[in-house]
Amino acid sequence: MDILVVLEDKNGNIHRMSQEAITGAQQIGSEFSLSIGILAMGVNANALAEQAAQFDVEDVLTLENEHVSNYTADGYGAAVAQVVTNENPTYVFFGHSYQVRDYVPRVSAKLKRPFLNDVVSYSAEGGKPVFSKQVLNAKLVAELQPSNGGPILISFQSAAFSSDNIQNGSANVRSVSVDLDSSAIKTIPEDPFQEEAGGVDLSSAELIVSVGRGIGKEENIPLAQELAKAIGAEIASSRPVVDSGWLPSHHQVGSSGQTVAPKLYLALGISGAIQHVVGMKGSKNIVVINKDPDAPLFELADYGIVGDVLEIIPKLTEALQA
Ligand SMILES: Cc1cc2nc3c(=O)[nH]c(=O)nc-3n(C[C@H](O)[C@H](O)[C@H](O)COP(=O)(O)OP(=O)(O)OC[C@H]3O[C@@H](n4cnc5c(N)ncnc54)[C@H](O)[C@@H]3O)c2cc1C
Repeated sequence: MDILVVLEDKNGNIHRMSQEAITGAQQIGSEFSLSIGILAMGVNANALAEQAAQFDVEDVLTLENEHVSNYTADGYGAAVAQVVTNENPTYVFFGHSYQVRDYVPRVSAKLKRPFLNDVVSYSAEGGKPVFSKQVLNAKLVAELQPSNGGPILISFQSAAFSSDNIQNGSANVRSVSVDLDSSAIKTIPEDPFQEEAGGVDLSSAELIVSVGRGIGKEENIPLAQELAKAIGAEIASSRPVVDSGWLPSHHQVGSSGQTVAPKLYLALGISGAIQHVVGMKGSKNIVVINKDPDAPLFELADYGIVGDVLEIIPKLTEALQA
């Protein structure tokens, strides 16, 4: 196979970011005539493989081994390195999740092969893909084309591809094995990083009203909450709102908060820093209200209003309640 997508297990289901990586593999595979395999491993390997076999890819590989039953960076790092050595794909794709950030550098070191992480898009040059990633706090975009064959490890930023575009089909399922012994497992993982807490699952919300520092002060938060109530939306926020204690941390969207992809993301007084944008750029419709016409978030907006949120929010709420 040419592209191997390594799955992440989310309680027996394929992690959303792995689905996005599969979508990316399908788009890149179809544009450059590359075949695709998917690797499912861990305690839920069979369940994940069954789901993966519904997608339009050539092969699904299942790996069951006591040393990868539960996640450890050592076990996953060694196992993926062996599968990659045996299968010899040109590209190995991952979602850029916390788990991938933890163990894929080990795969890279073991194989002595590059790891292009947090890739946001691709283009074509000379009949081969070129991968783009943001550098220097998103001030510049680096375009990277591997020069000497594979395997190249690549992780894609959340929402780089939309899993809505995943193509269904059917795949061959086969099992693979690796040779690991317990002396290789030296790390003990803590509980997985929780992107959701406090009962607010923003990742599955269809409508989100998101508050930024431009709301001014804690006493103004109820204005946004009333607007959210009027349209049945969840309340989210940028980080300064959480850091100031105006909303609890589970409302935070962004690189250190939740990743969301609602049908509507209404941003109130949010500037559009990259750390916020990575958490919401997959939203289907983005509406931005900001008094600064040059606020970077306007570049992503489907609809934009230049104005004072404190004047606009009450009028909008009133109009929506009418
Ligand atoms: C390691 C790291 C991780 C981070 N993780 C996150 C993260 O997960 N999520 C996140 O959001 N940020 C994160 N940040 C912070 C990020 O860099 C920005 O500082 C933050 O997103 C800015 O939030 P903001 O847009 O609300 O505030 P600001 O950048 O201060 O923008 C406020 C905006 O409100 C507008 N405004 C002001 N008053 C009004 C008004 N009355 N009416 C209308 N508009 C008004 C202003 O024009 C401005 O554009 C992280 C930073 C680091 C270094």
